[in-house]
Amino acid sequence: PSREEITYFGAGPALLPTNVLNTAAQALVNYDNTGLGLAEHSHRSELATGIVNTAKADLAKYLDVPDDYEILFMQGGGSGEFSATVYNMVSIWVERRKQRILKELGIEGGKEIPEDELVMQLQKAVDEELRIDYLVTGSWSLKASQEATRLVGAEHVNVVADSRKANDGKFGKIPEESTWKLSKNPAMVYYCDNETVDGVEFPEFPKTLEPNGDDGPIIVADMSSNILSRRIPVKNFSVIFFGAQKNLGSTGITVVIIRKNLLPPAVATPAPTLLRKLGLPIGPIVLSYETIAKNNSLYNTLSIFDVYIAGQVLKSLLSTFPDKVDGQQAIAEKKAKTIYEALEAYPESYKIVPDKSARSRMNICFRVTHGGDVDAAEKNFLKGAVSNGLTGLKGHRSVGGIRASNYNSIQLPGAEALAKYITVFAKEKAA
Ligand code: PLP
Repeated sequence: PSREEITYFGAGPALLPTNVLNTAAQALVNYDNTGLGLAEHSHRSELATGIVNTAKADLAKYLDVPDDYEILFMQGGGSGEFSATVYNMVSIWVERRKQRILKELGIEGGKEIPEDELVMQLQKAVDEELRIDYLVTGSWSLKASQEATRLVGAEHVNVVADSRKANDGKFGKIPEESTWKLSKNPAMVYYCDNETVDGVEFPEFPKTLEPNGDDGPIIVADMSSNILSRRIPVKNFSVIFFGAQKNLGSTGITVVIIRKNLLPPAVATPAPTLLRKLGLPIGPIVLSYETIAKNNSLYNTLSIFDVYIAGQVLKSLLSTFPDKVDGQQAIAEKKAKTIYEALEAYPESYKIVPDKSARSRMNICFRVTHGGDVDAAEKNFLKGAVSNGLTGLKGHRSVGGIRASNYNSIQLPGAEALAKYITVFAKEKAA
């Protein structure tokens, strides 16, 4: 089929706007009449820096990112960030703790540091106090917490809440905030804003995590699958990260939005020798936020072509929505409502997987229950969908079922076509 004949609901990589792809296709062959394609131009060229800076500025504009935040383009995907967040936030915790100990010891600038005493006190602090807090609300935050355990050991990882506990061992609900068990002064509190596999999305920023005063907790969020689809209170976050391949662009770059008070000169990465003495992991240099920030994301070879695609998507969003992300948010909500309402109209045919309180607007997960034989019903549903040009609807292999990924590039008529098919399929089965 041609691109026009299908609507692809895959979870990522996701559909990209055709106009962006056409522009990018030309840029891949001959960018701006330079005789070279963008994948061939040096990442050290002025042209590359221009593309990086424009994409940063447009992202900041679209999301209203305040000036005291830095935007980084990294590699290694969302999974790379599961590790990067641990390396960087543990380092920052150690550095801040070190500064506190030095102050308590009465050491001021320029004076000799009693190394043994410092290491001893820091080691005690690490052993007794270093905790990383994870809210486990789905497969991706679970994976992130497992990576933290692999890197720093279970004794330093605190699961604040696990949504499977009060939900028959399954993801699908966000535990009541009153039940969360946060650590005192954790290196970070980590959560995944939208769980792509399980269709669970935080309805809003958690009240419990709201900063009070300047010295709020360090909040880190994975927004890989819902960034650019709703307004976020950026000020409440220390770090927001997301892979590009769902709502931003093509696979190959990962974006980090980080508060500048977590970068030099406010806080430096402790010396590797110190981390080694404390038995803490030393992250690869390419995952160091400090290094990437210092080099305006061009520490090593970055795929400028992927940054360019992201930049084109942002340009297209900015020109479509004069009110920026609010405009996209209204459409995202309308599309999700259209699909959920179609499912809800036939409770004997469909069962929506997550609880209503935490339903994702981006990944709509449901089972086809009509007739009792769920497997057969879902096979039929998928087959019929494909013949209607609706593809990529199979659920994640770990959970099965149907998943409609309703990212920004799905237009309202695409969501309406799926809703119509959901209705027609249920009616046919009932007849
Ligand atoms: N986080 C979320 C919410 C995701 O949906 C995914 C992938 O789908 C990841 C992280 C992992 O991303 P990557 O495959 O880029 O490592």
